[in-house]
Amino acid sequence: MPRHQLVVIGAGPGGYVAAIKAAQLGLDVACVEKEQALGGTCLRVGCIPSKALLEASEKIHAAQHNQIIGAKIGQVELDLAALMAHKDKVVKANTGGVEYLFKKNKVTRYLGHGTILTPNKVRVEGPEGVQELETERILIATGSKPAPLKGVELDYEIVGTSDQAIAYPHVPEHLVVIGGGVIGLELGSVWNRLGAKVTVLEYLPHILGGMDGEVARAAEKIFRKQGLEIRTGVRVTAAYAKDGKGVVEYEGGEPLVADRVLLATGRIPNTDGLGLENVGLSTDERGRIPVNAHYQTAVPSIFAIGDVIAGPMLAHKAEEEGYAAVEYMVTGYGHVDYNSIPNVVYTHPEIASVGKSEEELKAAGVPYKKGSFPFSANGRARAMNDTDGFAKILAHAETDRILGVHIIGPRAGDLIAEAAVAMAFHASAEDLARASHAHPTLAEVLKEAALATWDKPLHI
Ligand code: FAD
Ligand code: NAD
Repeated sequence: MPRHQLVVIGAGPGGYVAAIKAAQLGLDVACVEKEQALGGTCLRVGCIPSKALLEASEKIHAAQHNQIIGAKIGQVELDLAALMAHKDKVVKANTGGVEYLFKKNKVTRYLGHGTILTPNKVRVEGPEGVQELETERILIATGSKPAPLKGVELDYEIVGTSDQAIAYPHVPEHLVVIGGGVIGLELGSVWNRLGAKVTVLEYLPHILGGMDGEVARAAEKIFRKQGLEIRTGVRVTAAYAKDGKGVVEYEGGEPLVADRVLLATGRIPNTDGLGLENVGLSTDERGRIPVNAHYQTAVPSIFAIGDVIAGPMLAHKAEEEGYAAVEYMVTGYGHVDYNSIPNVVYTHPEIASVGKSEEELKAAGVPYKKGSFPFSANGRARAMNDTDGFAKILAHAETDRILGVHIIGPRAGDLIAEAAVAMAFHASAEDLARASHAHPTLAEVLKEAALATWDKPLHI
């Protein structure tokens, strides 16, 4: 029977990073993954393919609407097959990259479904049969899957999830998205840009629940201007395929009939067939595996990280946990700073945040001051003709320590990295304001917002 010091189940961003780091720290490590391609939800059907579609569809839309400054463009035709081929190529480059890294770091890969049999044994059932692995430790990194919604019958063609919406064979005439969260808005934006009529049905009074309210409201306005039909306060009760169309029923209105329906109302941890019952492990009320501060479950030799445990379902959060979990195993110490994990929505404009929202600070009774600065007053944003949005910094009213940063605007997802580093180092608004920012860059918006928080902005 093959023996390893660590068996990781799942090769998503949590699992593959943990496996590589464990190998770098000298462990004999194996990774069990049921899909042929490594990289998990993120690389195969999540972050990477959706961003390939977002990046390309933005350019196609700009060209089709004659929005390239200084150029007169004739008729521009969408080549959906070429766009999908680009997306598939990007996915392959990334999943192949993980395969290369596994080989380079001598991580043994097992193809098949992993089931925990005992605290030190994992069964792998794959195309090459069944085998059992003996191991000192097990790390569960099995990620998440789309959450079902009562009344919604998925046929995975007309009524489907993001797995289908990254690969529709034609541009749907009408796409109904159930859920105005991250997936709904990112993939809704893609198909809206490519010519579909997109209707987003959101149960809450605003889209992007949980995000800073001022930013979410600004986003809603901009997305509506872009042509997304956003209906809030709408509770979907049923969806199904009928006569080649998707029917969506909701409280208080006539059913909608569309070509495609995307269910995007959240994801749930994936513990299907994992064998938790074989070792006496149970999940919490939301299906997550409970762990201690070292990512150790109630069974001392079994650990868990990523989407399958509590916390935001983000690739970089899973990566940080994978890294820290194996550090704890090998060196006894590790660290994840949960206060400085950024959150990005890759629409246009992008929306990014780190730390607390105004609503959270108010609810916690924390005294705060805020400063904001619009992209419309930034030279670089003007040069790019991309001036929608603003950056807002929230700092403690007495100490000036930065408590939250919220940006809606061009390249917000890249700009937020500076704010995350500042927060990780417990910076004050003054620290950020006094740091020199190259001119002319979009990052100057953050410097000005910091000046506005600590003292006064210069350029407005
Ligand atoms: P996963 O990536 O889900 O990987 C788990 C792996 O385990 C899978 O490969 C699965 O096949 C395997 N597995 C499960 N059970 C078993 C078993 N029993 N045996 C063997 N293998 C098993 N996050 C971001 O930060 N940025 C984004 O831009 C972003 N975009 C997204 C877009 C979409 C459409 C979706 C759906 C998600 C997106 N996410 C994004 C979320 C991100 O994909 C997840 O947070 C991340 O993938 C979680 O990583 P993980 O390693 O915990 O699990
Ligand atoms: P989400 O939690 O972001 O949004 C789901 C939305 O559906 C919520 O606004 C909710 O109020 C709404 N909803 C729930 N029930 C409803 C009903 N019956 N009718 C109408 N609306 C309803 O979930 P998601 O968009 O599915 O994304 C899942 C996860 O994937 C997220 O946790 C996110 O972290 C991750 N993700 C991240 C990124 C990124 O980082 N850019 C991109 C995609 C996905």
